[in-house]
Amino acid sequence: MKSEWVDRDVRATIDRYGQQGFGADLAQRIYTTRLLGRERSLVLHGGGNTSVKIVMNDLLGEQVEVLCVKGSGGDMATIEPAGLPAVRLDRLRKLRKRDALSDPDMVRIQRENLLDPSAPNPSVETLLHAFLPHKFIDHTHATAVLSLVDQPDGPLICAELYGNRMGLVPYVMPGFALAKQAAEIFALRPKVEGLILLKHGIFTFGDTAREAYERMILMVTLAEGRLTLNRKSVFVAGKIAQQLAPLSEVAPILRGACSLKDEKTEGAWRRQILDFRNSPAVLNYVNGEELARYGRAGVATPDHTIRTKNWPLITPAPLESSRVPNK
Ligand SMILES: [Zn+2]
Repeated sequence: MKSEWVDRDVRATIDRYGQQGFGADLAQRIYTTRLLGRERSLVLHGGGNTSVKIVMNDLLGEQVEVLCVKGSGGDMATIEPAGLPAVRLDRLRKLRKRDALSDPDMVRIQRENLLDPSAPNPSVETLLHAFLPHKFIDHTHATAVLSLVDQPDGPLICAELYGNRMGLVPYVMPGFALAKQAAEIFALRPKVEGLILLKHGIFTFGDTAREAYERMILMVTLAEGRLTLNRKSVFVAGKIAQQLAPLSEVAPILRGACSLKDEKTEGAWRRQILDFRNSPAVLNYVNGEELARYGRAGVATPDHTIRTKNWPLITPAPLESSRVPNK
């Protein structure tokens, strides 16, 4: 993976947002957030988040230190300043003294401290950004990193690969507990360039937008390199029928089998819409002899869980004799 940072584009972004009254830090935050968001092996739509700590005027015109952090569910690839709601930083930092904080209370406190009361909800990972001291923080669910840390010996692999450069955070559901744990792990090794969150993703940080972004690219590139070591192909071609029934005959059967009775309305059914794909990559995946094993291994990242769900329906390969004659 290569850095897509281009000085000319950065200057143009700073000019464009400057004309709208936004500072250079926020403009660069937008710029690298978009770079990360358009790389699908880092995040899919809605996944990941970024932040910057700056000073802004509140509604009374008073200067206040804020965390501009991505709104929950927003798309990094097309983000605008409104997609990075500003939250009062000193108020968020005070929460670190607490022992526990429920998700509903956390969301209410975050909303209470928005500079603009009509802004979207800040990300569920807002407190993690707030508890770390860095000006720029980037977070993705990079497929390459997760392919390493989802393995049973993931922590060992990461320790070997990153040494003292990255902190390792055990899995905790996103929210207050994760934010607090990540901040404690960072405090033990304040020279790290980022944090690997086991079974979740990767954070990198820096004093500048470029530093945080290029650390992300570097750490993911190291993971990509590690994945190619000792890699074994899991693909062994299964037996494929020479003549397959046309899709128009198969699809209604599948659709019927996947329909569920709507318990709330008598006689109604909840039906699925099918989307048929047979690209070379898809065929390579479904034609494997061990599809049932690797197809049920679960997806790599939280973004994939949202997009594709974790478990596929696997139907048996068609038999030659089951071919329905064309009428
Ligand atoms: Zn995340």
